[in-house]
Amino acid sequence: MDIPKTTNALVKSSGTGLEFRENVNIPSVGERDVKLKILSASICGSDLHIYNNDSVFRDRVLEGQIVGHEFCGEVIEVGSQVKTVAVGDIVAAESHVSCGSCYYCLNGMSHICQEVSALGFDRPGGFAQYTVIPVENAIVLPPTIHPDIGACLEPFGNAVYTARRVDLVNKVVWVIGCGPQGLMSIAVAKAAGARTVIATEAKQERIDLANAILDAHHRTERDMVINPIEDPDTLKKIYKATNGLGVDVIIEMSGQPKAIEDALLALKKRGHLVALGLSSSSKFEIDWNKGIVLKEAHIIGIYGRLLYETWTEVIHFLTTGKIDLSSTLYPRQFALSEYKEAFDLVLNGKVAKVIFKPNDL
Ligand code: ZN
Repeated sequence: MDIPKTTNALVKSSGTGLEFRENVNIPSVGERDVKLKILSASICGSDLHIYNNDSVFRDRVLEGQIVGHEFCGEVIEVGSQVKTVAVGDIVAAESHVSCGSCYYCLNGMSHICQEVSALGFDRPGGFAQYTVIPVENAIVLPPTIHPDIGACLEPFGNAVYTARRVDLVNKVVWVIGCGPQGLMSIAVAKAAGARTVIATEAKQERIDLANAILDAHHRTERDMVINPIEDPDTLKKIYKATNGLGVDVIIEMSGQPKAIEDALLALKKRGHLVALGLSSSSKFEIDWNKGIVLKEAHIIGIYGRLLYETWTEVIHFLTTGKIDLSSTLYPRQFALSEYKEAFDLVLNGKVAKVIFKPNDL
């Protein structure tokens, strides 16, 4: 086949929103790059910040940049030095491009590289028919993983890294917030041997999704999903489920100050709070003495995924059938030109993963 030199793509516009453009130039393939035909791409929460031109990424994502960093594609061209990936491979993209030479990269922590750049932010992304990425960012997938799931492996990797940061075997786990990563971490907690999973979420559609993912992962009568806004007995129910001791592990996906305040009080002595959810108000009050010091709490922050241990776990969970993410996919798929409808769905916060099919629709 002729290798295309241009692509249809969603690019950052000068103000709020994105723009659908045809015939955007595809970057050239460097020695250690691969060119992908995008099979599926998914909208992330951080894409919403770009879409809304929020201050967090306003000066970073420049006008005309191809956005989107959750995607899966078929390799159609490889650079002269590429040895580990071949034309025809199906790959998921790891969006973080690390420098390879800073303190963190040299010490096995390249996911928190000091010079990190990211696909869809600082470099062309995957809301396009074609894109080019470094070979280190192309994770070869086995054929049993569907490309729509392949597009969701970045957030799934975040959930896996978060939930697997502490041993969950026989533990009572409280997942706060059932957005995509919360939903996925419910599945990981069950697959990783948690005795009981309690999920809290305020939106009814997400409560339904949380129940669906529990049903698909060996639900027991102890597992539950609670709406903490409507149910004033939420903390009482959590204490009751733990014989008054509190939960062993909290997986914090909400970034909600009130939820985190309550969570620390309901954490068992020597328990772990593992936090991935960013908070819009990064400074808020917690009970330092009761919530952390006197109970010897462990508080762990999470950034992204481990390169590449988490990817190995991600593929293991999916190929062994221990985890099934299909209930997190919104049933309708979208063409890139239908991006406004797709983004509106995610902006209202009631669906989990929405998929673009840049070459099929
Ligand atoms: Zn680095």
